[in-house]
Amino acid sequence: MKTGDKYILLEKMSPLQKEALEDPEKFWGEQAKCLDWEKTWSKVLDWDYPNAEWFVGGKLNACYNCVDRHIKGNRRNKAAIIWEGEDGSCEVLTYYELYRQVNMFANVLQNLGVEKGDVVAIYMPMMTEAVVAMLACARIGAIHNTVFSGFSSEALSERINNSKAKVLVSTNTLYRRGKKIDLKGIVDKSALNCNSLNNVIYVPRGDEDIKLSFGRDYLWDELMAGARSRVEPEIMDSNDPLFILYTSGTTGSPKGVVHATGGYLTYATKTMDWTWGIEDTDVFWCTADIGWITGHSYVVYGPLSLGSTIVIYEGAIDYPEPDRLWKIIEKHGVTILYTAPTAIRMLMKYGEKWVKNHDLSTLRLLGTVGEPINPRAWKWYYSVVGDKNCPICDCYWQTETGGHVIYPPNGIQTVPLKPGSASFAGVGIEADIVDKDGKSVPPNTKGNLIIKKPWPGMLKGLWNDPERYKASYWNKIPGVFATSDYATKDDDGYIWILGRADEVLNVAGHRIGTAELEHELVSNPMVAESAVIGKPDEVKGEVPVAFVTLNPEYVGRPKEELKKELIQYIRDTMGPIAIPSIIFFVSKMPKTRSGKIMRRILKKLVVGEEIGDISTLEDTTSVDEIKQQLKGSK
Ligand code: ATP
Ligand code: MG
Repeated sequence: MKTGDKYILLEKMSPLQKEALEDPEKFWGEQAKCLDWEKTWSKVLDWDYPNAEWFVGGKLNACYNCVDRHIKGNRRNKAAIIWEGEDGSCEVLTYYELYRQVNMFANVLQNLGVEKGDVVAIYMPMMTEAVVAMLACARIGAIHNTVFSGFSSEALSERINNSKAKVLVSTNTLYRRGKKIDLKGIVDKSALNCNSLNNVIYVPRGDEDIKLSFGRDYLWDELMAGARSRVEPEIMDSNDPLFILYTSGTTGSPKGVVHATGGYLTYATKTMDWTWGIEDTDVFWCTADIGWITGHSYVVYGPLSLGSTIVIYEGAIDYPEPDRLWKIIEKHGVTILYTAPTAIRMLMKYGEKWVKNHDLSTLRLLGTVGEPINPRAWKWYYSVVGDKNCPICDCYWQTETGGHVIYPPNGIQTVPLKPGSASFAGVGIEADIVDKDGKSVPPNTKGNLIIKKPWPGMLKGLWNDPERYKASYWNKIPGVFATSDYATKDDDGYIWILGRADEVLNVAGHRIGTAELEHELVSNPMVAESAVIGKPDEVKGEVPVAFVTLNPEYVGRPKEELKKELIQYIRDTMGPIAIPSIIFFVSKMPKTRSGKIMRRILKKLVVGEEIGDISTLEDTTSVDEIKQQLKGSK
């Protein structure tokens, strides 16, 4: 290393990146031409810290860009959505069919009085109608607020009330692991507490009668039967909101992130292409739920804006057998698979025989997102799933960033990969790793990952909460966008995400990243998943406490023996200071619905505080199990 960051940055930088950083406005102005605009902008960026307006004065419609423009060209009969139900049924929607349905549903919403600027909540599992509903909102200028269908009635009411949604689109029944879940029951309960809500539209599933509440509830099919088949797309200002989406709630109460039309769609479209180098023949499968940002940018807006074919699967990826995911890839000829480390680890636990029974030769790229991927899972994904033929795109980003910000840009440049590193800052992203005062830290030093300048995918704000917007992103480190994640850059300039910035322990004056310790624990073959939190300690200030789930072959072994081995392992790999003071063996971790471990819950349990907002917790039995163990340890 000669001169610090600059040297490495320039050496690794693609010509595109150089262009982007040298003159961002000129660059993004060029890139925004990937969309069809009704009126060109007068100014690329209006930056009034901390508020950014992109493509000022530009007019466009997001739905037009994702649907209409393709049916005018030769993609009219191309598959837009390949849908598979958990029961194995399939449905293929061409771009033309998608266009028709979106137009009709846009008219349905209009007939219920939904106007430009109104909020429509969508509480649906992975059904084609969910995508239709999102695009129909965009078509008439309504703001969609998608709520993950695994949420409780309280979490749903909270999001409806906070966003003042007028209409809710849902379904009566959700199928998961062969079981039926009564979604209508949840909606009914939730709707009682929502004053803003005028109407609920249900997509009917199954043969049961749906009891509709007169004047409030309608059936999708009946409304569609009476709808017009053509609705002109509303011409939107580039800075009009496209959607509100609440964050996963891993670190605190969820934040209502708002994304605006022109900047967001430009960024989702370009990063889709820069990351994957999309070709017209690709079959892209992102397994994320549309209730999360990944489902917005890389199930709906990014791929459809590029006229790509997407796969949507309704159910659990290991149901009815552990090879369901591999079966789907084989059946539909998936070329790019984009999933989460938690899913990879789960499938890895079942063993490679489930993978090897399937022909996965159509795959050309693999992706991960959501949390750092541990090298063991990375290597399994690379060699067993990808047969060492598919580069792995580890994509780092957030609800707030709108699209990938740290990722290997396969579409434009090849970079050698390092398992566990998301590689480099993406095109047009001026990222750095800094200390709490905003000063760049030297290589191999832990710091805060920040972004120095606005980019088109950057959130427009938090819904009706400008103060929290400032406090959460701009006041932490003066003048820059704080991701609140810790990272480090190695000697080759690769960025390694180390976990949440607030998850660092101070053990007798030594700073230990919980992510680092977790990383070591899961490198041990016995451990499937781990979570580490800090417990206050009179002598050392803080001590690490580890929660561990075991790989199946170790489950029956005596816990004391396992503990001893793990302690020795940490002593050898990280040193005695990092040895957990307690190790709990649990059968599952408390996770958000998007698969992230909720360490804040573990922490509260250990220190004996109220556990607070658990609206996004996946399975409360995980908490009960830990409570039991804690009782036992006292
Ligand atoms: P909240 O902000 O409410 O606590 P959340 O941060 O979990 O919830 P998301 O926006 O869905 O909500 O998740 C973004 C976070 O996920 C990032 O800040 C980072 O911590 C983590 N993350 C995402 N992708 C990666 C990745 N490839 N490597 C490491 N971490 C990742
Ligand atoms: Mg976050």
